[in-house]
Amino acid sequence: MADGIYEVIRSYDGHLFQLQQHIDRLNYGAKALQFCQNSFEALKDVAEKLIDINDLKQGAATVYLQITRGVANRSHKYPSPETPLTVYAIPKPLIINNSEQEKGISAITVTDQRWERCDIKSIGLLLNTMAHQQAINANAKESIFIRNNFLTEGSHTNVLMAKNNTIITPPVTHHILNGITRKVVLDICDHLKIGICQRAIHENELFSADELMVVGTTVEITPVVLLNNQTIGNGFPGRLTRQLQKSFGELTIKD
Ligand code: PLP
Repeated sequence: MADGIYEVIRSYDGHLFQLQQHIDRLNYGAKALQFCQNSFEALKDVAEKLIDINDLKQGAATVYLQITRGVANRSHKYPSPETPLTVYAIPKPLIINNSEQEKGISAITVTDQRWERCDIKSIGLLLNTMAHQQAINANAKESIFIRNNFLTEGSHTNVLMAKNNTIITPPVTHHILNGITRKVVLDICDHLKIGICQRAIHENELFSADELMVVGTTVEITPVVLLNNQTIGNGFPGRLTRQLQKSFGELTIKD
């Protein structure tokens, strides 16, 4: 019944980027789902050890963490609180496709039919998967969800647009994941004194954006240069995107 939560944490040369934020989000999800435990600080050491003992201290890797409610008979109610949670963790080397961040990608819009608690990073990803597959079937790389004519997020990313030198993105609500990369990018904007506006974005606005980008742990900051086969901006990654990519890259070294 998809009764679980997960995180994907990115390792840069053995350094787990934004590790505490990922643990905080697990804690948030566990609380929202009333798991019998909602503090997973101990998983920080587990993640670090997994990178270490699997010889992944050089280059790009990820650690996947998953916590489910535990083993119990099938039922619609939660099992008794004594049921131990099941924790699963796996490290993996990550193959990076630099050309997507360099040249940008093509994306499509799809109707957001997901539930009302997209703030919980649930393992129930069927509608995200279906949307992503829809993008692949259309020779695109990401699907951008539209709920009642307004942008929510991507199938596995948050979405930001640039217009008149301001970065615009939907505010954090239950309709999007409170993305860790999104927060890092907004903090970079603050630092660089780039204007930020968190507000609802009508789907039509996306097509007149100066720049569009999807952000997430594995895609980092990836420009979207084509949406539903329409060119965004001048069809190339824009100035603000490049500036944010550069600062983000510097942070991954020193964070
Ligand atoms: N939105 C969704 C639906 C996601 O699945 C993800 C990442 O998996 C994101 C946004 C980006 O979140 P983060 O930057 O924390 O990886």
